[in-house]
Amino acid sequence: MKDEFKTLVRELKGWTSGMDPEDAAGLYVPPAAPPARAAAKKQIETAAPAFRGEPPTAAFAPRNNQIPKPAAPPASALAQEMPLMHDYPQGETALSQIAREVLVCKKCPLGSSRLKAVPGVGSPSASLMFIGEGPGFSEDHKGEPFVGRAGELLNKIIAAMGFRREDVYIANVVKCHPMIDPSDPEKRGNDRPPAPEESAACHDYLVRQIAAIKPNFIIALGASAAKSLMDSPKASLSSLRGRVHLLPASNFPVGAEIKLVATYHPAALLRNPNWKKDTWEDMKLVMREMGLAVPQQPAR
Ligand code: SF4
Repeated sequence: MKDEFKTLVRELKGWTSGMDPEDAAGLYVPPAAPPARAAAKKQIETAAPAFRGEPPTAAFAPRNNQIPKPAAPPASALAQEMPLMHDYPQGETALSQIAREVLVCKKCPLGSSRLKAVPGVGSPSASLMFIGEGPGFSEDHKGEPFVGRAGELLNKIIAAMGFRREDVYIANVVKCHPMIDPSDPEKRGNDRPPAPEESAACHDYLVRQIAAIKPNFIIALGASAAKSLMDSPKASLSSLRGRVHLLPASNFPVGAEIKLVATYHPAALLRNPNWKKDTWEDMKLVMREMGLAVPQQPAR
């Protein structure tokens, strides 16, 4: 009886192995999967291919094979869109191109009253960048940023930090001289901070300069430059000084983290030498952050 049963089982196995599963369904019952796991597996198997990380198949493709495209942004949004840093031209060639554009620029009224546009000066591979608010009388006459007495003091600060002027890059938020009386560029004491709309008109040049140079650090010289760079029009210099910021990507979408310290403008130091000590503390903060040896002797 036992042998007969074994023979019957062997015959049944051989018979069902070649059958269509549907025909065999009543004869073979697979072991039951745990209900939750089985349900999850079923969900994955029946989900759209994109859910499983696969390209869409015909079964899941939209009708007529038309894969819907996201709605195109309006033209105005495209115009404002800024490419990432790797999309910007780099180095000396890029800076030369920016300078050529600045020299003939008339995007804001400052272009009509300036004597000389002042694009910037220094090393295309500088690790440190100084940015002021705008050219003054001497810069307007020479076409170079931070010349005259304020420029001489900045050179001393740069030297005290262990750099040469040609090692760093020096630029301004606006590239043309903002004047109280634009009809008289020969008048002394005719300087003023740039208006927000002038800074906005010139902003793209500065973004491209920063992207072309890729500095590790920016030192904002003066309240106007610090507020403009940090996109904090209501902040005071005292609230921004004394700590390390990150250049806001929302205002400078250059695709890299660039540290920023704000300090006094050299022209302000000439008016108030007491601020030199605080300025030197700011420079020491930058040097420490950059891993540089900090000399004890401040710039005088
Ligand atoms: S300040 Fe800037 S935007 Fe205005 S004219 Fe000069 S380069 Fe052009």
